[in-house]
Amino acid sequence: GSTIGILGGGQLGRMLASAAAELGYHTHILAPDAESVAAQAASSFTRADYHSRIVLDEMAAKCDVVTYEFENIAIDPVDYLSTKVPVHPAPAALAIAQDRASEKAFVDGIGGRTAPWRRVDSLTELETALAEIGAPAILKTLRLGYDGKGQVRITAADEAEAAWHAIGQRPAILEGFVDFSHEFSIILARGADGAMVSYPPPWNRHVDGILATSSLPAPPEIAAQWGIAAALTGRIADALGYVGVLTCEFFATADGPVLNEMAPRVHNSGHWTIEGAVASQFENHVRAICGLPLGDTALTAPAVEMENLIGDAAGRWKEILAEPGAHLHLYGKGDARPGRKMGHVTRLQRTL
Ligand code: ATP
Ligand code: MG
Ligand code: MG
Repeated sequence: GSTIGILGGGQLGRMLASAAAELGYHTHILAPDAESVAAQAASSFTRADYHSRIVLDEMAAKCDVVTYEFENIAIDPVDYLSTKVPVHPAPAALAIAQDRASEKAFVDGIGGRTAPWRRVDSLTELETALAEIGAPAILKTLRLGYDGKGQVRITAADEAEAAWHAIGQRPAILEGFVDFSHEFSIILARGADGAMVSYPPPWNRHVDGILATSSLPAPPEIAAQWGIAAALTGRIADALGYVGVLTCEFFATADGPVLNEMAPRVHNSGHWTIEGAVASQFENHVRAICGLPLGDTALTAPAVEMENLIGDAAGRWKEILAEPGAHLHLYGKGDARPGRKMGHVTRLQRTL
């Protein structure tokens, strides 16, 4: 069979590798980490730096298509690989999603709504932006943030300097605080032929900046904004000539959906699709990048909820195994540091 290369060794790569195996593909993981939880599920694993040309040449020779499982990977190796082997999603989509300013400018440019925002490269620019946007606001590093890291809330004008230092005096964007009732996400798969499918939107709840739960069906406040949000996500995918799974995070507001950020990959808020949808986000990513028809995104149960197991919450695995309707996923990570995603559980509402 064909081989799919995956850059990145985390749980998303692990779940992609499992889905690929179910469709008869081999997977090859490239990651620098000593502990690659993706490698456990893959056919082969190279532990090496992404920047080694020798390693990249080997990967291109070994794989029929290459994808990546996290958006903070350096763009150079992805670009280099794309000259030797098909890479999906294309490096251009990755470049936009890596930079919060280019991401927001792109979305604004195709008629999406984002929070009011300004790029800031100095304390002076931050003070000016804060005067324009007003408090409360959120200062986020331009690049490399995840799970709410690299961002700080500003509740009054005199907090600008402390905030600038808190994020390490790095290029950043200032965002106006969005008054939302709910958060949700659109998870969409697009094939090379332009065909698209997307999942019903989960209601996503965060604790300490980290996704805690995703629940379906979504409440009416989200359902009412699903159409507009899914259409925008489709326009983004079309504009990028995107191939694979694309996730957009939204705030449901009184004035309609506001796009928070996009991820050029499978997403934590889509883990419920493994058991809760006919074809999972991981399967649909594999189908899309391998040129197969896309799979059914319908729910398999009247209600589905995914709960992240963060830090020592994973210690609850025994009681979860005893729960009717529960599917436990443990990622095989050794060290249950606070804030670390160790696993998740998906609960399906049973009908019988
Ligand atoms: P992820 O792990 O999803 O990539 P991240 O570190 O990129 O997270 P964001 O998604 O930008 O961070 O923000 C994390 C959370 O902070 C959001 O899900 C939301 O709850 C809150 N938040 C972020 N931006 C705003 C905003 N402009 N207004 C209100 N709340 C916000
Ligand atoms: Mg993010
Ligand atoms: Mg986010």
